[in-house]
Order: sequence, then C-alpha cells, then structure tokens
Amino acid sequence: MRTLLGIVCCGAFASWLMSAPLSAEEWVSGKVWEEPPVVTPGQNGGPPSDAVVLFDGKDLSQWENGESWIVENGYAISQGGGITSKQKFGDCQVHLEFATPEKVEGSGQGRGNSGLYMMGRYEIQILDSYENPTYFDGQCGAIYKQHPPLVNASRKPGEWQTYDVIFTAPRFDESGQLVKPAYVTVIHNGVVVQNHFEIEGATAWDRAPEYAPHGEKEPIHLQFHGNPVRFRNIWVREMRELGCRQGEAKASH
Ligand code: MG
Repeated sequence: MRTLLGIVCCGAFASWLMSAPLSAEEWVSGKVWEEPPVVTPGQNGGPPSDAVVLFDGKDLSQWENGESWIVENGYAISQGGGITSKQKFGDCQVHLEFATPEKVEGSGQGRGNSGLYMMGRYEIQILDSYENPTYFDGQCGAIYKQHPPLVNASRKPGEWQTYDVIFTAPRFDESGQLVKPAYVTVIHNGVVVQNHFEIEGATAWDRAPEYAPHGEKEPIHLQFHGNPVRFRNIWVREMRELGCRQGEAKASH
C-alpha cells in the first residue's frame, strides 16, 4: 500500500514538474515600495541609530517621577512609585534590561516584582521567577493574568536580564469601538516567551481584561511594586509601515 501511494505521489509530482514552463518570466507584484530607511544597528544590545533612548544610565529626565528613583553606577533602582515616559508611543519595539534584587526577600508576587506597561495599561510582568513559584500567568514574561510565558527563561536573582518587545497598538474607531486588538511578542533573555499574543485588554489584578479607548500613542510605564528592581539600557523604536503604491509592473533587475 505504501509503495502504491509512493508511486502515485511521485507520478503527481513528476507531472507537475512537466507542466511547469521551462523559462518562466519573473513575477512582479506591481507594488512600488518606499525605500526602507537605513538604520545602524546598536552594539551588544545598545540602541540602533533610530531609537529613542529613554535611559542611558545617566539620568531619568525622560520620565515622569524619574526623580524618585535612584540612579547610580549606570543603572536605576525603582522606589517611591512607578515612572512614566514623557514621550508617547504606538507601534514600537522596546529594549530594556532589568535585574531583580540579588538578596532574595519575599516569595511569589512579592519577590522582585515590577512591570513594563505598554501604553501605560498592558503589563508585561517583571518578577524574580527563578525557582519562585507563583500563578503562571503572573510569572516573569507573562501578560499579566492573560497569558503565561511559553517558557521560563529567567536568570538568577541579581543577574542582568533583557526584554525585547515588539508591540502593535490596538486600533479604535471614532466611536471608541475596538477595531483591532493589540499584539505583543516578547523575547526574554533571547528566548521567545510571547509569540504575537493577542492582548485581551488592560491588565489588572482585581478585574477581567477589558479594552477602553485611548490615544494612538501612550506612554510606557515601569511599575514600582515595593521591590528595588534595577533597570538599564532602555530604548524604543517607533515602527511604521512603509509607504506603498500600485505602479507598473517592473522587474527587479
Ligand atoms: Mg508587576
């Protein structure tokens, strides 16, 4: 039976090959794309040339309430409330580095808790999740109370960790109705932990996720949750789709 199937399949493939023209003309889409801008990549996680640097280790002047946090030795330590970026962002790529306290105190949600809030309302959890059990959709890399990280890629307490986030903002129509939800991809220490996850609404501890209309661009927020979490090297790249128009078909070369 298997042999018979093999013969039939091989036959089908051979006849497809035979029917393909020998010298096909190149297919062109007819789309005339805007030229992709040139961007100089950063070195070792550093900001690319088109990034907005929100914290380069020197000061938190790009943040509301930044004066509350301690800045020393090229990093910032959370205390006295969260900080909110002065600049607003829509679709964007975010890079940040964080380290939960080396001295382990507390457990579960009380250990190294912070959070990266996209548009000030969609939390990507920051937590010490190295051998620290808690509810899965509240551990490090979770979209808080919506989706656990696909894997736990946490480093040990005190070690520097990276988040690289690709975020697509939700769209609302003029009446405030949700037209398209937000999506997020999160790479934690080089490991994909959220893969184009469809965000269900604003994240909260005490209520179900729900969308409420907001601006096309909103600030980024870093949470203070009672634990001195350190941050460094925070930058954002705004993303926009390339312009494109329908033109005459033109070969690529
Ligand atoms: Mg948190």
